[in-house]
Amino acid sequence: MKVVFHEDFKRSDYTSDGASVQGRMESIMTALKTDGYIVVSPEPVSFEDLLLAHSQEHIAGIQKNTKLFEMACLSAGGAALAAKMAFNMDPAFACIRPPGHHASRDSTWDYCAFCNMGIALLKLKADGLIESAFVLDFDAHMGDGTIDVLSGWPEAKVFNPMTENSKEYISSIEDCVSNIEHADIVGVSAGFDSYEKDLGKKLKTMDFYLIGKLVKKLAKRLCRKRRFAVLEGGYYLPDLGKNVVAFCQGFE
Ligand SMILES: [Zn+2]
Repeated sequence: MKVVFHEDFKRSDYTSDGASVQGRMESIMTALKTDGYIVVSPEPVSFEDLLLAHSQEHIAGIQKNTKLFEMACLSAGGAALAAKMAFNMDPAFACIRPPGHHASRDSTWDYCAFCNMGIALLKLKADGLIESAFVLDFDAHMGDGTIDVLSGWPEAKVFNPMTENSKEYISSIEDCVSNIEHADIVGVSAGFDSYEKDLGKKLKTMDFYLIGKLVKKLAKRLCRKRRFAVLEGGYYLPDLGKNVVAFCQGFE
């Protein structure tokens, strides 16, 4: 498995929020490199790619902040590259920011600019490579943007587990994936703020490993192991790298 990353993702001068803080990308990349993952570098998506998921008005709104627009296009490019690699049977984790799962077609909130996951999948679909997709979003927050952006595509299913505790959380994913009949690719919106010491106060490090394994198993059953993940939230820096590595170990 490979990691999609660009040195520019370390920039923290494009906005000021929990996702853009200095040291966040470093904490993940240090842990991943220690674990020996090969890193590949993305290109920004084009304006046409953005239009697959967003209105002209929304794009123009983000463009008012030139630095944010550049970073957001590169972030979506990271997701698109991970999805393309996954389609070519090379599973990938995209360590990107800004996150994207709260970016809807016409609006966004909470640290997101463009819907990275939505753009990545809609691009594969527009290229005629896939007809269906399954997205697991394990961020602490509902991925309303991804749901909105993919809402016109009946063969794209999005699942956001919402439970009281970690045990129910894992079994709700098991239940959901066992009922999925087909998907040409499996995408994961990997939000590590569902961690027990982060905002979501729920999952342990081992749970991220188990989730990675479940997704891998699903991709093996449905779509010749085609799977990729993109970073969403995750703000407890002391354990963020460790949790990403746990997920990747299950996922690879
Ligand atoms: Zn979140």
